[in-house]
Amino acid sequence: MKINVARPYFDEKEQEAVARVIESGWVSQGPKVREFEEAFAEYIGVKYAIATTSCTTALHSALAISGIGPGDEVLVPSLSFIASANTITYCGAKPVFVDVEPSTCNIDVKAIRQYISSKTKAIIVVHQMGLPADLDPIIELSQLNGLTIIEDAACAVGSEYKGKKIGGHGNIACFSLHPRKIITTGEGGMITTNNRDIAEKLRRFRQHGMSISDIERHQAINIMLESYPEIGYNYRMTDIQAAIGIVQLQKLPDILSKRNRIAAKYSKAFSNIPKIRIPQLPAYVTKHNFQSYWIEIAENMSIDRDTLMQKLLDQGISTKRGIMAIHLEPCYVADNRELPITERLTSQTLIIPLYPSMTEEEVQYVISEVGRLLC
Ligand SMILES: *Cc1c(COP(=O)(O)O)cnc(C)c1O
Repeated sequence: MKINVARPYFDEKEQEAVARVIESGWVSQGPKVREFEEAFAEYIGVKYAIATTSCTTALHSALAISGIGPGDEVLVPSLSFIASANTITYCGAKPVFVDVEPSTCNIDVKAIRQYISSKTKAIIVVHQMGLPADLDPIIELSQLNGLTIIEDAACAVGSEYKGKKIGGHGNIACFSLHPRKIITTGEGGMITTNNRDIAEKLRRFRQHGMSISDIERHQAINIMLESYPEIGYNYRMTDIQAAIGIVQLQKLPDILSKRNRIAAKYSKAFSNIPKIRIPQLPAYVTKHNFQSYWIEIAENMSIDRDTLMQKLLDQGISTKRGIMAIHLEPCYVADNRELPITERLTSQTLIIPLYPSMTEEEVQYVISEVGRLLC
């Protein structure tokens, strides 16, 4: 048997949707991107959704239009994909790394306060592996200190915090549509907000700062001449990608229930293995999308994390190391500080296969091999 860590959930519906866009002759950002944005906003329960080329460019856009620039500091967990911090660096600002809670792998709300300085302008709240961070106390703290909250919801589409979908809690939230995440357009990103001014700034930012959109110009009966009041970027999604995204969004409820069913089987099987930890849901998480399922191996176990990963691979089961620690990477090491929980989690956790089309046989095979190697 050969089992991947992840696999996108495609069928002929995505192929047909792409074929129709190609037949239409309009393949760059146009009517399909708009349709996808409207469907995404409705799904999340927000007024505006803005499509981008990735979550990385979504985060860059969100920070830039929030006025983050040289001299500013932005708090961010180190236990995250490197893009969470790189986008701060793109703006000329400095990422300040904060430790995480071991139970959730999310930013430690109690630790945030000690890092707030007169230079702090924003907090990037990562909903790591799709598990919502405890937003309410962070929002309260940010209001007291006049900070912007930008949610790195790369992995979190469909997850809910206190009964409301991530992306709908009044901040700017950035989602990823990379194949490793929950739904995909190949590459792609989406930003949600309820603020009209922010939405308009984001639309201009992704389109070279241009004053009018391609759709407006196409639909106009009089000639329209654009202008460029500000510097922008080309962060536009294509209509080919958006057509895939519309189909993927329709499949999302099915994807979420399949992921939850597999995760429940893992949790039932692994809860009796001594000295390991597995995901637990805090009470404020009313829905988890299980973008990833992790296992933490105690340091005094008979097998270490890397040996376990190799032995699973020898049996045809691909795994991934736990989430990286950005502050340990060479490009950030000058700003190094000790983050003990982050350092423990990055070296002691692994991510095991979980995707909607996994068969019962594959799930049981993973359960029996993990169980055999850890006993
Ligand atoms: C995947 C990921 C990103 C980057 O998403 P892209 O769409 O690949 O740019 C950013 N932050 C986190 C937490 C991620 O997991």
